[in-house]
Amino acid sequence: MSNVDAAEIRHFSSMASRWWDPHGEMAALHHINPARLRYIENAVGGLRDKHIVDVGCGAGILTEALAARGAKTLGIDLAEASLEVARLHGLESGIKCEYRCVASEDLAAEMPGAFDAVCCLEMLEHVPDPASVIAACAALVKPGGDVIFSTINRNPKAYALMIVGAEMLTGLVPRGTHEYAKFIRPSELEAWCRAAGLSAVEIKGMRYNPLLKSATLGRDIDVNYLMHCRRDAA
Ligand code: SAH
Repeated sequence: MSNVDAAEIRHFSSMASRWWDPHGEMAALHHINPARLRYIENAVGGLRDKHIVDVGCGAGILTEALAARGAKTLGIDLAEASLEVARLHGLESGIKCEYRCVASEDLAAEMPGAFDAVCCLEMLEHVPDPASVIAACAALVKPGGDVIFSTINRNPKAYALMIVGAEMLTGLVPRGTHEYAKFIRPSELEAWCRAAGLSAVEIKGMRYNPLLKSATLGRDIDVNYLMHCRRDAA
């Protein structure tokens, strides 16, 4: 297992017990969840009975929401502590998801083309080799299936909002969560997707409003953005 930064896994594991606290360190992920869930549901043409793998699922904030809308979801992550919290939360909520501690590359070798859709949100900017995860996502989805990524753009505005604003000034995101150099420009993401046999269908900006505690999607891709891709037909 080489495509993993141990410090990242330690960072997310250390917050494991607070993933589901709506006022805790992960609050922003809860706040953006309805907007991204709606986007994914539209992108994949409805969630009912779709087989979806959520790559870098954490404690299942998105994984459970997808399952609640009828999808059959598998969440994978390399932070076992977060997966434990995800399983416990599933017992409480009664929403059934499966969780596994496995690298995306290993799951892709085990289950090629097994999923109708793959979600990989807010994760690529935490791995040493994002292109390798993207290739794994492409291998996991069936030909013609959908892959949805989200990440953070790399430019001075993104630095100002995500590092200075969200981490240093407001503490909205825990300090040390993001490293500017690992942010990903849309052109870079699209090139990696193309190399993996994924065609970009749409790219959407996501704007987070900390006062309203919600997000809206639109044309501004300067900071947070989602990319909907489709695997090329076989
Ligand atoms: N996708 C979730 C969580 C985002 S936080 C959401 O949007 O709600 C980033 C997650 O990526 C953490 O759970 C962290 O443990 C995971 N992660 C970091 N590096 C990883 C790797 N190499 N493989 C799998 N998961 C990883």
